[in-house]
Amino acid sequence: MNRRDFIATTTTASLALALNGCNESNRQAIDYSKHPQKKDNETKRVNINKNKKTVIKLATSWPAHFPIMGTNVEKFAQRVKDVSGGSLEIKLYPKNTLVPALAVFDACSSGQIDAFHSGPYYWKGKNSAFSLYSGFPFGLTAEEINSWMLFGGGMELWREQYAKYNLHPFVGGNTNIQMGGWFRKPIESLADMQGLKMRIPGLGGEVFAKMGVNPILLPAGEIYTSLERGVIDATEWVGPALDIKMGFYKVAPYYYSGWHEPGSILELTFNKHSFQKLAYEHQSIIEVASSELNSNMTYEFHHENIKALQELKKLNVTLLQFPKDVTAEGKRALSEVIKEQSSENDDFKRVYASIEKHLSLSKEWSDTSLRYFLNER
Ligand code: CA
Repeated sequence: MNRRDFIATTTTASLALALNGCNESNRQAIDYSKHPQKKDNETKRVNINKNKKTVIKLATSWPAHFPIMGTNVEKFAQRVKDVSGGSLEIKLYPKNTLVPALAVFDACSSGQIDAFHSGPYYWKGKNSAFSLYSGFPFGLTAEEINSWMLFGGGMELWREQYAKYNLHPFVGGNTNIQMGGWFRKPIESLADMQGLKMRIPGLGGEVFAKMGVNPILLPAGEIYTSLERGVIDATEWVGPALDIKMGFYKVAPYYYSGWHEPGSILELTFNKHSFQKLAYEHQSIIEVASSELNSNMTYEFHHENIKALQELKKLNVTLLQFPKDVTAEGKRALSEVIKEQSSENDDFKRVYASIEKHLSLSKEWSDTSLRYFLNER
């Protein structure tokens, strides 16, 4: 649309708004059929049967009532029930109540459960490309990765690759930017990272490994005692809101800002057949409620981090940033990891090419707008 058409269209729309009242015009102006969260197959449209309740079994990788990640899935389930007038019920199975935390992908793929809430980077063993749907070090912020997912081609790639496992994913939230982690001793230079035993998973862990760190995988329940006893020297977790509850500040008081998980996506994924069998109205309710889940979780993380940071400051936590040589080595290590994984897996190469194209353009816009603003504020 050129500028003259745009002005003509908006003028007509404004006129219609004045004549018809705004509700009707708004309804006509927004074409939801083009929204990328919209279902991709509407040929076999089934309508709701109000006399029959449909139940969806949804397992999560989090314990019951787990703050922000778990509680927002509970709100999602309640929302679906309310909006559907009780005709669609999401029955929640927290971690280990029906399937183990990290068995949800296979359980959903086979149809044992209808859906799960977890994180795509847990499934890198199935396909290394899946870790990119969570994000990667020095990559996209929460806002940037959402724009890639919803409008920049990310969702299409994700759904195409998950369809091979009979799965149909939605964006199910974002942790927002994560902190670099808790260290028992301050890091003065890259030399201090050599041989350091650190709990850090995913692509971040692979980058840290190339920097000389010894990444160690530990279940959540063992991190604190391992840190206290010196079995590990450092750990990353999420951000102030969740980290403060783990008590890491008592045994590792040096808290670093980070670049390894700048905006990690969480997933709300359905068994593809279970989703296609749902009534058209129920599919639409899930689409709308998942979009709300994504925004609520992202903003709640931001809000809770604001408060928890103030609490941590009262607890004598030392806030630090990594030395320049550590960050420079992290960037070098990342390019090596990307190069290796791209040569080993065409899916990884293809997803990275899409995300990299978005990132290079996004950087320019973010630097022009947001970086300027944050520096001046
Ligand atoms: Ca993390």
